[in-house]
Amino acid sequence: MEFRNIFCIGRNYVDHAVELGNDVPDQPMVFSKPLNSLVYADGKEIHYPGNRGEIHHELEVVLYIGKDMTDEDFWVDEIVSKMALGIDLTLRDVQSELKKKGHPWLLAKGFKNAAIVTEFWDFPGEAVCRERDFCLLRDGKTVQKGNITSMIFSFRTILAYIQANFGLKKGDIIFTGTPEGVGPISNGEKYELRWGEESKGGFGIRMNE
Ligand code: ZN
Repeated sequence: MEFRNIFCIGRNYVDHAVELGNDVPDQPMVFSKPLNSLVYADGKEIHYPGNRGEIHHELEVVLYIGKDMTDEDFWVDEIVSKMALGIDLTLRDVQSELKKKGHPWLLAKGFKNAAIVTEFWDFPGEAVCRERDFCLLRDGKTVQKGNITSMIFSFRTILAYIQANFGLKKGDIIFTGTPEGVGPISNGEKYELRWGEESKGGFGIRMNE
């Protein structure tokens, strides 16, 4: 698959905004990650820096744009061709410092291997997505569970907002925000991403010095 841009939505689930003590936004909060940060959850061990404070996992539904968008009206199901589950990794301590200084989040969100995705599958439509919870398991135990019905901004709103401000083209992917339950990763842990009961991929954590 070919990828173009990685867009991410921050604070798209009320309970997650609250757990970090953030305000609930009144329009989508968009940031991006470099394409270089993308890595597949294909069973391998993924390496992270062990000396930059806590790195939090954020489990998210990821949309793949299959058709260049225009400013014309649209159906989500005609623009989104595939989906995946992903983890938006965040250097949380670094991010707190950046927020205090009013600096961009790139260092905290765009580091190597900061955007994990499972294999993509054909987008089944928004209605089907509403019927399935998505889950993150750490060493076999559920740590995050979400459902898109709890999103503040719908897929449609997110697509329209990104198109209006940045343009949205075939190959762009969107991390649509994390539900509550984010927390730090540690050396040696194994993670698995599930869509309903179905395992979509996994990876191990290796913290480097
Ligand atoms: Zn996120």
